Amino acid sequence: MLVSELQFHRPATLKEALEILDKQDATILAGGMSLVPAINLGLARPETILSLNGIGELRNFEWKPDRLCIGSMVRHGEIEQSRDIANNFRVLSEAAGHIGDVQVRNRGTIGGSIAHADPGADYLPVMLALDASFRLVSARGERVVRAQEFFIDLMLTARDSTEIVAAIELPRRESWGSGYIRLARVEGAFPIANAAVDIGPQGAWVAVGGIGSRPVVVEVPVDVDAKDSQEAVAAVERGVLAAIAEIDIIEDVTSDREYRRSMAVVCARRAFLSALRRAQQSRSGGEQ
Ligand SMILES: Cc1cc2nc3c(=O)[nH]c(=O)nc-3n(C[C@H](O)[C@H](O)[C@H](O)COP(=O)(O)OP(=O)(O)OC[C@H]3O[C@@H](n4cnc5c(N)ncnc54)[C@H](O)[C@@H]3O)c2cc1C
Repeated sequence: MLVSELQFHRPATLKEALEILDKQDATILAGGMSLVPAINLGLARPETILSLNGIGELRNFEWKPDRLCIGSMVRHGEIEQSRDIANNFRVLSEAAGHIGDVQVRNRGTIGGSIAHADPGADYLPVMLALDASFRLVSARGERVVRAQEFFIDLMLTARDSTEIVAAIELPRRESWGSGYIRLARVEGAFPIANAAVDIGPQGAWVAVGGIGSRPVVVEVPVDVDAKDSQEAVAAVERGVLAAIAEIDIIEDVTSDREYRRSMAVVCARRAFLSALRRAQQSRSGGEQ
């Protein structure tokens, strides 16, 4: 419940937004799908709100030869519905389609989800599997931080409070097949565990999230043409177990630590097998 007066800014340019953020301790508002519930529950008590909703330059897809830059204010629904994203970054498209419900996807933004860094967010392992980087801008300049270094701990990121997440950058590396799997108590709820996999000539990037303080990623060499996938699956499972041994696993009403750990491995295995099947189909000339 709002019990105090709010100052509300809605600049039309990023430059203007950065000037406000430089002078005031303002809370950034994107889609409001996480911030507004937090305010309603009394968990956040902002005095000044800086809305990014009037800034057109944060709502673009920019296809460069070596990467795709997605403006931070692009909504989950736009990602889910983009044909180009589905054709080039299928795993991102699949994850976006699972977020909340239609209302949440129509308002929530990719930048908001990345900045909020809820451990259960659908995008987090996808960002690691695709080796994404985030463009952070402030009145003093800009820097690009790799997803692997961005997510530090439970809802703690490398972003400074004077920085805005301006864009998500995805390298346009060769991908043969990818897959996304999540386990949630009911459809529309945050995942208990989720996994994203991208397979290309460099091997498999296997990332898991939902279970702990931050998402983790392992790179596993894989012979896509091998007749038997058992060895590769075992390597994925070993890699994921070793990676999650380094993070604090969450325990809550939905599941205890052991269940979450096991489900992370199950999600990783299934996402890997889905990506592998698609990689094999695409290399034999079939549809992914
Ligand atoms: C009912 C419901 C179900 C949901 N289910 C899921 C789900 O299944 N999976 C899932 O992944 N998510 C889910 N969400 C969360 C949803 O994806 C949110 O959209 C997302 O977490 C936050 O994005 P937002 O644009 O709404 O950000 P906001 O709520 O506006 O902001 C969130 C936080 O990030 C900061 N912030 C926002 N944008 C920026 C930026 N560009 N730069 C710096 N800081 C910024 C804000 O200051 C705030 O602290 C759900 C939300 C609801 C309400």
